[in-house]
Amino acid sequence: MRQLTIISGKGGTGKTTLATNFVKLATEHIAVDCDVDASNLHIVFNPKVEKRVEFVGGAVATVTGNCINCGKCEELCRFEAISDSETNIKISSVKCEGCGVCQYVCPTSAIELKSSRQGEYFISSTEFCPLVHARLKPGAENSGLLVTTVRNVAEDLAIHQHKKVIIIDGAPGIGCPVISSLTGVDYALIVTEPTVSGISDFLRVFEVAKFLGIKTLVCINKYDLNLENTSKISSICAENEILLAGKIPYDERVPIYLSKRKFVVDDPESNAGKEILSVWDTLKYYLYKD
Ligand code: SF4
Ligand code: SF4
Repeated sequence: MRQLTIISGKGGTGKTTLATNFVKLATEHIAVDCDVDASNLHIVFNPKVEKRVEFVGGAVATVTGNCINCGKCEELCRFEAISDSETNIKISSVKCEGCGVCQYVCPTSAIELKSSRQGEYFISSTEFCPLVHARLKPGAENSGLLVTTVRNVAEDLAIHQHKKVIIIDGAPGIGCPVISSLTGVDYALIVTEPTVSGISDFLRVFEVAKFLGIKTLVCINKYDLNLENTSKISSICAENEILLAGKIPYDERVPIYLSKRKFVVDDPESNAGKEILSVWDTLKYYLYKD
């Protein structure tokens, strides 16, 4: 089984447009939406949820018993999650990392570690393939852990159903959820655009993929909006031995296809669609080769 993650360094570069079209074009595959804060593959594919599972995040310390205000827990919490008040201690659920030291040292057993529901994940069926996706509760932490959970579920499903490929719509940015989206995959496709911030985001996310030792390809979306910056991105790819898999021209109809749950690759008149097909041909070679 081979895995491809599509990433962008930030939102709005066309990452999900490419991911949805690749999911439509692929065969013997599973799709995964790792953007657990704002997932949207399910909006395009209108899936039927087959299984829904609660996601319980890491434990957080809370005072539930008789605190004698001895101060031991505050002294030993290295995350500075505990503060003192006149009569009792207070634990910050935001700062607490759930290490359990406070519970261990408390002489009156006043502290409990409690887990809470932080979201849910789904295994769904779509017209094209199974889709594994998730929803993190607003304001909940642990999005990296939920991404890892979703990916593990997809891998188990792929093994069980003898699928050859997993296509992952990665989380935006370069933080913990992106690292979780990339860890252990075979290929990363960076979708960038020819703007100054686009180049900067591309470089940052490329460094993450490089650090993780993942073979990286690049696709420049709306390349014809700034040919000078497109040329800069092409040079960066050449200098770093990154395969430039394609340059997609601007097509104002692309968002309309998505909003109508249609695919630009199905329109033989669309130059953007033709180039996405060409990028997919390159990816297909790597994903399905023996
Ligand atoms: S569980 Fe660890 S991090 Fe949380 S309050 Fe206790 S000592 Fe601090
Ligand atoms: S160690 Fe226990 S008794 Fe002491 S301050 Fe913390 S919660 Fe209270």
